[in-house]
Amino acid sequence: MSTLAPLLVAENVCKSFGSLRAVAGVSLEVHPGQIYGVAGPNGSGKSTLFNALTAIPYRADSGRILFDSRPIERMPAHRICQLGLVRTFQKDAEFERLTARQNVRVGAVFGGRERGDLDARVGAALEFVGFDPARADRPVRELSVFNKKQLMIASALAARPRLLMMDEPASGLTKPEVDELAGLVRRINATGVAVLLIEHVLPLLLSVSQRLMVLNYGQTLAEGEPQEVIKNPAVVEAYLGKRGQA
Ligand code: ADP
Ligand code: MG
Repeated sequence: MSTLAPLLVAENVCKSFGSLRAVAGVSLEVHPGQIYGVAGPNGSGKSTLFNALTAIPYRADSGRILFDSRPIERMPAHRICQLGLVRTFQKDAEFERLTARQNVRVGAVFGGRERGDLDARVGAALEFVGFDPARADRPVRELSVFNKKQLMIASALAARPRLLMMDEPASGLTKPEVDELAGLVRRINATGVAVLLIEHVLPLLLSVSQRLMVLNYGQTLAEGEPQEVIKNPAVVEAYLGKRGQA
């Protein structure tokens, strides 16, 4: 596929909690401009993998992680962010006592490679995600679930990602909101930002991903072209077979 060097390379990444091997030797490569999907049942290690890759809130126990050909396993989280590896969280992660605009400013400062015009960057990020300007200077506790997702994505964009990692951004959203989110993911990608997207629910992931990995019990069950991966018998059994019970 791409002749360019991969943007993110993870080799044999492991993270345990006591005796539980939450991520047990996962490898992946995300290329510039790619949308890469990560699926898997609840508890399969998706969020733990994101945490370990970004060092927020903890590092991998072992494994090699390269971003833009640089080893980042021991780099502080803010430095990783400044290189352009930026993430959102599965749960709401806004600063409750700040306004929406102030929240996005935190992202702009944390990820800022240079100071530049912070206000302009914050305004552009809010506008890009379609955030209602009338709510921008209101306290975030008044926001809907969808507005909070937009805000979290705007905060990440303000940090100027080269690879944006999103952990289940569609959870808690209505079908029209999920469709809007899919459009937003595509628009972000169209600006040249690669996306690493976790989703438990497959339709969104399949509609946007060029490459797909399915995790189960902390390991890679299958990886490759999305339509091939979802036909893989191990994936059908481990992932789709459990959907009815989820
Ligand atoms: P997913 O995001 O795929 O739903 P997680 O990465 O959150 O899965 O969790 C993987 C496994 O690790 C689960 O069994 C979960 O209970 C466990 N786990 C996650 N975080 C912790 C933690 N901080 N302490 C102990 N166990 C954890
Ligand atoms: Mg998770």
